[in-house]
Amino acid sequence: MNNPFKNAIKQLEKAAQVINLDNKVLALLKTPDRILQVKVPVKMDDGSLKIFEGYRVQHNNWAGPYKGGLRYYPTVDLDEVKALAFWMTIKCAVAGIPMGGGKGGVTVNPKELSEGELERLSREFGKVLAPNIGPRVDVPAPDVYTNSKIMNWVKESFIEYRKNIIKESGCDLKEKQEKEFEAVITGKALDQGGSKGRDRATAMGGFYILQKIIENQNLSVPTVAIQGFGNAGMTMAELCSEAGYRVVAVSDSKGGIYNPEGLDIKKVVEQKKSTGGIKGIEGIKEIENAELLELNVDVLVPAALENVITGENAENVKAKYIIELANGPVTPEADDILAKNGVKSVPDVLANGGGVTVSYFEWQQNLSGESWTEEQVLNKLKEIIVPAFETIWQLSIEKQIDLRTAAFAVALERLNKLCYTIDT
Ligand code: NAD
Repeated sequence: MNNPFKNAIKQLEKAAQVINLDNKVLALLKTPDRILQVKVPVKMDDGSLKIFEGYRVQHNNWAGPYKGGLRYYPTVDLDEVKALAFWMTIKCAVAGIPMGGGKGGVTVNPKELSEGELERLSREFGKVLAPNIGPRVDVPAPDVYTNSKIMNWVKESFIEYRKNIIKESGCDLKEKQEKEFEAVITGKALDQGGSKGRDRATAMGGFYILQKIIENQNLSVPTVAIQGFGNAGMTMAELCSEAGYRVVAVSDSKGGIYNPEGLDIKKVVEQKKSTGGIKGIEGIKEIENAELLELNVDVLVPAALENVITGENAENVKAKYIIELANGPVTPEADDILAKNGVKSVPDVLANGGGVTVSYFEWQQNLSGESWTEEQVLNKLKEIIVPAFETIWQLSIEKQIDLRTAAFAVALERLNKLCYTIDT
């Protein structure tokens, strides 16, 4: 089994060598600042008590408050959360935004919980996180199998905790202070202080990069396969389809569908929304998730989980470009094989950076009391993500290194300048 944290450290060491990173800085980045491992007790609908395992890893805050999602998934464990928190540090530095890296999660399959159980779990998780998060300390967001509704429950627990502390201390809660509490979470619903454009931001960032590649490489009607049909994958499918690209395959946790002539993405979205899955559309061939990764397409978009392209299957990947909307979908062994075969993989820390960038915009809007239009948000995102991509693409050519190592090198140079915890 691939350990995502070990993979993350291998990626770090490879890039550190390229830029001759100071050994002390390297050592600091290899270890998270703080690990919170908590029990999350939940009263189940049948009256029993169930205890879930929860995590929050605060990896690094040299650039700003820890920032990163909360994931609910049955296989969440400490090594996964540590890796995801580390990648957030790198991702924020790649985008050049003043935020650090954090990540959290609960080991649970939320699909097996009732709405009431999910709410109690989220409020309880919010309660145990509350003393350790805050708008200027650590700012969570949604991730796999979590959404704005869950974030709102977590946020409400945090606000209740803070209000109680202020009340107990005999001070008055200032209106400005209360407003600022909104900024403890991003990815909120619009009527709860969310930002316009946040729901599409992750895919949008990856799509801007894909557009650039297609322009530069003169691909006329690229064929695209997308693994994962949630926030990131479904939006990416819609954007590609609207742009006239041919989305030939998509998948979710239950498997995939494939049409070499191109799928009608509107129909697939309707199917997902009405049945909860993408299968069952008349006349459309069904395939396994593993098959999707090996299809003969121009562009492959992993948008589900980590470790899906490994030493085992990388040799069979036929796509010319990979846009990593998921975090950690390609292992270091696979990276070497893909590079040898001339497959360009745009790394997660760049390709899905749209999500955290617009989360940062949401945080800025909450703290300043502003509200930006979707057009403003997406333009600002484009102004960050496209130059970041161009710098990294150029560096990879100049230094003859893969795009991941180039992205890490850019991030590490920035982090090195910010390192204040040791006298370097
Ligand atoms: P989501 O919960 O909205 O969707 C996840 C999708 O993956 C679903 O379609 C699900 O069916 C599918 N899936 C789950 N298990 C699978 C399996 N074993 N095989 C194939 N598909 C499977 O989550 P999301 O927010 O779209 O996140 C997807 C990926 O993108 C994650 O790696 C996440 O960390 C990353 N990401 C998300 C954001 C964001 O803003 N949502 C930002 C950056 C990175």
